[in-house]
Amino acid sequence: TGRWARAVAILKEMEEKCGTPIGKLRQVADAMTVEMHAGLASEGGSKLKMLISYVDNLPTGDEKGLFYALDLGGTNFRVLRVQLGGREGRVVKQEFEEVSIPPHLMTGSSHELFDYIAAALAKFVATEGEGFHVSPGRQRELGFTFSFPVRQTSIASGDLIKWTKGFSIEDTVGEDVVGELTKAMERIGLDMRVAALVNDTIGTLAGGRYHNKDAIAAVILGTGTNAAYVERAHAIPKWHGLLPKSGEMVINMEWGNFRSSHLPLTEYDEALDTESLNPGEQIFEKIISGMYLGEIVRRVLCRMAEEANFFGDTVPPKLKIPFILRTPHMSAMHHDTSPDLRVVGKKLKDILEISNTSLKMRKLVVELCDIVATRGARLSAAGIVGILKKLGRDTVRDGEKQKSVIALDGGLFEHYTKFSACMQSTVKELLGEEVSETVVIEHSNDGSGIGAALLAASHSQYL
Ligand code: ADP
Ligand code: MG
Repeated sequence: TGRWARAVAILKEMEEKCGTPIGKLRQVADAMTVEMHAGLASEGGSKLKMLISYVDNLPTGDEKGLFYALDLGGTNFRVLRVQLGGREGRVVKQEFEEVSIPPHLMTGSSHELFDYIAAALAKFVATEGEGFHVSPGRQRELGFTFSFPVRQTSIASGDLIKWTKGFSIEDTVGEDVVGELTKAMERIGLDMRVAALVNDTIGTLAGGRYHNKDAIAAVILGTGTNAAYVERAHAIPKWHGLLPKSGEMVINMEWGNFRSSHLPLTEYDEALDTESLNPGEQIFEKIISGMYLGEIVRRVLCRMAEEANFFGDTVPPKLKIPFILRTPHMSAMHHDTSPDLRVVGKKLKDILEISNTSLKMRKLVVELCDIVATRGARLSAAGIVGILKKLGRDTVRDGEKQKSVIALDGGLFEHYTKFSACMQSTVKELLGEEVSETVVIEHSNDGSGIGAALLAASHSQYL
């Protein structure tokens, strides 16, 4: 019928506009490298902020003692404690708890948000039991993973540049987030010192390095996306401080804000961006990360309903609700292996209240998920290759096989199997066989939590 042909035309157009042939990916990777240089050269020199993290030493394995971490990065936050036993003992014991953030706190006041966080932390500290020992007379120390763009002023202080990922709290912007947390802890009488302020990428890199000394970069694919890597300090023209003894500095790229004319953007992406809380910003993030993939799919389906009467004569009302189709739902549909695509049918029914879908329609929905996920996965691979290029690790020199380990974390990477598989095979495709053998993508499970605790240990006031 005409309807069906219209829907297929919309799908095909989407497929074409989202295309990421290898040549385009190389352009994206090159653009990433160029922007990295520009962001390191001067403050504001690029869309990539290339923030200096003040982390000039990554964990060695010798860290010892009890340390806490707090991970605030999306819809959940986690509190964690770890007893480190040094080179022999390693991670002796760890415990964590996950707390969800009530949505109204994401757009409320700074005071309320940090009070909520401090209260949850205090509650967690109160349950500290067997196997955890804070040295007598010492203050407990915390690594604070705060995964929003921060202009760091020291290892344990930094001002919020802007909120992302659905947070929008005016009075935190420009403030030192460690100060905000410390004040909230004081208000409720929790005696704890923030020893390190990092973001999830840096925590993941620290955790990755603790497990593997060849870890040189970390990438987060979760609600948002970001990357961090180890740069040579003398290759950071905008750094006017003393050169660190290690000669190295970890850079927080804030790559979610990357943008290039080579990115395959569609009208759906443009509409999503315009209607978002941060129009014009985080464009790379908006086509790659977990917060947005499902929403892009919804927008295309909505178009099909409006212009092709794809789901019948009226547009299903639920389909018009922004963000109702979440990436985990999309992933479940994309991975549906049942012959009649039962999961797709069920998701359409349960979430969008669309019943009586034909197999043909369900197949088209799966194809759409594939188009959107593949674009995101292949572009993240190009980003990773951009980092390797910047470090000169995209070639094998004189047969020297220096290993490069990239620590990956985040719910999207962890749970969206087709996404991560596509990302990893695209990295291989871009690097070629010989170089691929030297590059390892490692899942750094809970790197950001443990990593922050490790960095608190290496920046303890008692060292
Ligand atoms: P955050 O990025 O908020 O710190 P996570 O790293 O746990 O948290 O990532 C959570 C995100 O991962 C979710 O917002 C969602 O987009 C994505 N995600 C979680 N589970 C799945 C899944 N099963 N399939 C696809 N994406 C998922
Ligand atoms: Mg996270």
